[in-house]
Amino acid sequence: MAAWEPIWQDLCAYVCETALLQSTKELLEWDERTMMPQRAGEYRAEQISILSGMIHHRQTSSRLGDWLARLAETPLTNDPHSDAGATIRQVRRDHERLSKVPAPLVKELARASVLGQQAFVRARKQGQFALVEPNLQHIVALKQQEAEAIGYEDTPYDALLDEFEPHVKTSHLSQIFSEVAEALVPLIHTISEAQRQAPTQILRRHYPESQQRRFGRQVAELIGFDFSRGRLDVTDHPFCAGMGPDDCRITTRYDERFFSSAFFGILHEAGHGIYEQGLRTEQYGLPPGTFTSLGIHESQSRLWENFVGRSGAFWLHCYPIAQQFFRVALGDASVDDFLFAINEVRPSLIRVDADEATYNLHIVIRFEIEQALIRGDLRVGDLPSAWNAKYRQYLDITPLDDRQGVLQDIHWSAGLFGYFPTYSLGNLYAAQFIDQAKSELDDLDESFSRGEFGTLRQWLREQIHQHGQRYTPEELVEKVTGGPLSHRPLIDHLYRKLGPLYGFS
Ligand SMILES: [Zn+2]
Repeated sequence: MAAWEPIWQDLCAYVCETALLQSTKELLEWDERTMMPQRAGEYRAEQISILSGMIHHRQTSSRLGDWLARLAETPLTNDPHSDAGATIRQVRRDHERLSKVPAPLVKELARASVLGQQAFVRARKQGQFALVEPNLQHIVALKQQEAEAIGYEDTPYDALLDEFEPHVKTSHLSQIFSEVAEALVPLIHTISEAQRQAPTQILRRHYPESQQRRFGRQVAELIGFDFSRGRLDVTDHPFCAGMGPDDCRITTRYDERFFSSAFFGILHEAGHGIYEQGLRTEQYGLPPGTFTSLGIHESQSRLWENFVGRSGAFWLHCYPIAQQFFRVALGDASVDDFLFAINEVRPSLIRVDADEATYNLHIVIRFEIEQALIRGDLRVGDLPSAWNAKYRQYLDITPLDDRQGVLQDIHWSAGLFGYFPTYSLGNLYAAQFIDQAKSELDDLDESFSRGEFGTLRQWLREQIHQHGQRYTPEELVEKVTGGPLSHRPLIDHLYRKLGPLYGFS
């Protein structure tokens, strides 16, 4: 036995133990957002804070640093894409990054983020930004300290972005996002001038919650979310959380007067869930069994929600089923009208309800605002007016109140800066992945129209899920599609789909 072998085994066992703590924290966070009584918040913040401290302590321990140093020169690292090579590379990356952040800052950030989320919920309920403003000021200051501690070349925002989308730089994103915005603005304008408009009143009829629940669950199962290894629950702000190799929780919220909210929300979260469930369980807790980035995670949810779930082929199979669930609402509506309605493009105020095209402008707005906050160019107190000005600039609409404006997204109050861009990255990656899948797999649309989604799911599993962190997002896109990140496939997809609906080409 080589001298490094026991060290390698110790390292893996140690990292897996850290994952046990991390998944316990996930469970507490899931509970906080779905089940927890309102007044339990302060104590929950303490629970999560102490666990965050313990996890950080383990990830930055000198023992781990010592093991990593001793494994660096072994044959394990020969191939950076092997399970062992990727494990050592990623654990070292996290160790180095996290070691730069002082433990008291980590604990304070965890605590402030839980309290910030609770303040956000109160502020949103009462429509008063002032109720969350002090929390946000504190969180922005902590995130600035974090960025300084981690270090950066160009802009402090780079240091925060790197947590969610490793190796991606702000300057590169700015360039890609401006290409996206430049292509979208004329498309959205053409659509607003079009003669035909989508019959969206169909979606605003009465959709009983119990039926939405059953239909959503059935379709999530159909595309491949495994309910023996997961659950679907209700929350205010839908999310997906993996908290064990066989325990993936997805969530949604129901609106009886709007079909799309829960249904596409469920497809979206089920897409995240299928990625989690497609990771290799025997590698759980280790980098090859962990998702590679939030952008790639989001590509999986967007792919099922938009590229599959809003396609004609999908509804060829699912529409008759939907009509059985919603006889009153959909009985007299044709599948063509329904399809047009769910693909409507219209500038709107709420990101999570936005259509496929305008959605990306909501992200550009947040991306620009959060950079300014972190750089110190924008005061938290000026956030509502800055927000409204950007909505006028990009979407030509103005929120009537903060609930429809700056009080719609919990991310900043939860300490998540650098997270928003991953949503648009997900859209871009998804378009690139589905193009590739269609070029490799015959008659994918034909299989969707038969209600058969296993071929695509299996392809995603082999090409993306099973690699975990063996490839960086950049490497993965290159490996799967043969090219770098690009805005073109998304824009082409939108023109291809929306042209025939709105009557332009
Ligand atoms: Zn998502």
